[in-house]
Amino acid sequence: MVAVLLLLLLQPAPSAEEKQLSIYGPRVSYSLPVSEHKGQDYVALLEALEPFGNVSAASEGQKWKLRFNNLEGEFRQNALLTKVAGRKFELPAPFVLESNRGLVPLRSLPTILALMLRTKTEYHEAARRLFLGGAATRFTTDLRETGLSVNFSAPVNPLISTEPGKLRMTFTRDPVVSNAYILRVENPLVSSIAFSENNGRAELVVQERVPLLAKFASGGKTIDIVPAPREEQSTPSSAAPAAAPRTAEAPIAMPAPPTLQSLAAKPPFMVMLDAGHGGDDPGVLLSETLEEKGVTLAFARRLRSELQNHGISSLMTRDADVTVPLEQRAAMADAARVAIFVSLHAALEGRGVRVYTAMINSMTSKPSGFLPWDTAQADYVLTSRALADIVKAELGRREIPNSELCAPLKPLNNVAAAAIAIEVSPSGADVGSVNAAVYQQRIAAALAEAIVVGRSRVEAER
Ligand SMILES: [Zn+2]
Repeated sequence: MVAVLLLLLLQPAPSAEEKQLSIYGPRVSYSLPVSEHKGQDYVALLEALEPFGNVSAASEGQKWKLRFNNLEGEFRQNALLTKVAGRKFELPAPFVLESNRGLVPLRSLPTILALMLRTKTEYHEAARRLFLGGAATRFTTDLRETGLSVNFSAPVNPLISTEPGKLRMTFTRDPVVSNAYILRVENPLVSSIAFSENNGRAELVVQERVPLLAKFASGGKTIDIVPAPREEQSTPSSAAPAAAPRTAEAPIAMPAPPTLQSLAAKPPFMVMLDAGHGGDDPGVLLSETLEEKGVTLAFARRLRSELQNHGISSLMTRDADVTVPLEQRAAMADAARVAIFVSLHAALEGRGVRVYTAMINSMTSKPSGFLPWDTAQADYVLTSRALADIVKAELGRREIPNSELCAPLKPLNNVAAAAIAIEVSPSGADVGSVNAAVYQQRIAAALAEAIVVGRSRVEAER
């Protein structure tokens, strides 16, 4: 997983909060407490099924039998093997019978509900949000100089709260989903809109440049976010002009004088492959035995040989299970003066491939021959986005699900070259597919092709 996403996901969770699962059905949404047994998450099966029909359960010694409408489930204390709606399957952790309540491993609930309710399920495991029968509320944003409207595909009822610099909408009962995590915005009122999911909830956080407030419209299908009425200032230090910087004319950047670097001969076309994480940093745990750091390294090696097949040389920020700090990865790329930097990650959420570019303002210009470290990417970000567009098109042509996003990603901001990050998610319900050779190969081939196609564009900007 990309570092910024992790930060966003962790941010809204108070440490003492109880774990919960939210289930979103076509007609009903509810949350259930999650309990832990031997380090695994469990949930009460009877309570999970109750909103959907007649359910009853009876225990007999070590056995627990569940009846839901005309279907049955058979479970046994401490056993993995179980039978649900006539189908035998194995639980990922033993069944727990506690005071006659049957608890199943949380990870098995999507399968059990799919069998009992005869519907498809989609589980966002990291956020503990389970969607039944295609339940999903999507949204679009409409940004104007006077305010921001968030339009939902169905009425929503979030909890809205404000804190300095932020307006937060928390959705517990609404199956709000989004492919994008951060929407970069250039607007006098709003600087970004971030979507995250955590502990059975989704959140939309608006980073504000001026104090904002939210109003419901269109029967709950629209939330209008507008500037809050100005309050009387009690302290002279927080005077109004400072709070509302509405500078219409940005300073015009003078062309930078030719630098030593730009006068020097163009270095050979080279790609830096950055296998995310490694060593002390395992990245996300994709399954009990699959760590992100191993997946990214395997994928980087595949991409290296794909590029080789196209006659393109590459370097790796790591070619073993070693710890490499983020800053060092960027520094390696900058020192080698590579043309393209590709950071590789893997994740559980979503399907297919997400292509990221840095969230940075392309108008930043070099004040002198020195590259400002924090904004080294600024001069290259338009080329990076052009390359990301080509990658997206190649993935699309090969029918690999994909999306393109901007995010304030380390180390992309520090790379003085076209730079993208690729986050690979499972191709389907099977988490292991992120590490499947055939799947990785298809994506690596698309990436290599995109680099071949984008080469002239990248070379022109060096
Ligand atoms: Zn990662």
